[in-house]
Amino acid sequence: MQIKTPCLIALFCNFRVCSIIAGDSAGQQKLYGYTDTPMLPGSEWHVHDLNRPQPPMVDPGPALPSAPPPADAIILFDGKDLSHWIGGDEKGVENGFINILKTGEISTRMKFGDCQLHVEWATPPVDDGGAMHWGNSGVFMLGLYELQIIESHDSKIYPDGIAGAIYGQTPPMVNASRKPGEWQSYDILFTAPVFDGEKVVQPAYFTVLWNGIVVQNHQPALGPTRHRALAKYDNKTTSGPVMLQLHGSALRYRNIWIRPLQPSK
Ligand code: MG
Repeated sequence: MQIKTPCLIALFCNFRVCSIIAGDSAGQQKLYGYTDTPMLPGSEWHVHDLNRPQPPMVDPGPALPSAPPPADAIILFDGKDLSHWIGGDEKGVENGFINILKTGEISTRMKFGDCQLHVEWATPPVDDGGAMHWGNSGVFMLGLYELQIIESHDSKIYPDGIAGAIYGQTPPMVNASRKPGEWQSYDILFTAPVFDGEKVVQPAYFTVLWNGIVVQNHQPALGPTRHRALAKYDNKTTSGPVMLQLHGSALRYRNIWIRPLQPSK
């Protein structure tokens, strides 16, 4: 997107994500984010703060072929069909991967609480929609809590909105992004929240390895994901589907498996 004059432009995409782009007249620097949003608790930063430091880049090494899933994993996508998913167009299954732009947003038929989830994904090799859209998708745990996916190697938006971020609250500790078009992986340990009536007994937690690198370490979620607002536990769901977000980009997914977690006996 070309910004020709000093401006703030609001782009409304869907109910989960939209953006304001601040640009300068020369087009030399563009900052993507906000400063008019609520402060994050225990932090000096606003939600989607454009002044928050970008996490340091860490090269995770080259992409490797998919490893076989563990024997007890539920295979959510093996490259062939969308039988485990609701809401998808099978025409979006191409050469062993899901093209989310063609399938549309999809959610698992099964519901999960505490779990280990493996997902492989790749952003389009070339920009297919600008900084706020290139590779934008996301993994929603319980259908509510987003671990962001977006092109984050050659393009950057506000740090709590880059890949590896718990969207709208916690950037990844480091940016482990591979180049556009290369396959990447998330290994997510998700702990579902616990409620006693209206009381939050235990928040949801994310531990995330991005291309094998820890980027979230038992990080509590503030609540179900919101945009330009502070997340809060206004939904008391404790199990739900894995949802893969459609956000206007031809994001690809492959080799998706999950292991529901039970405490040791
Ligand atoms: Mg997203």
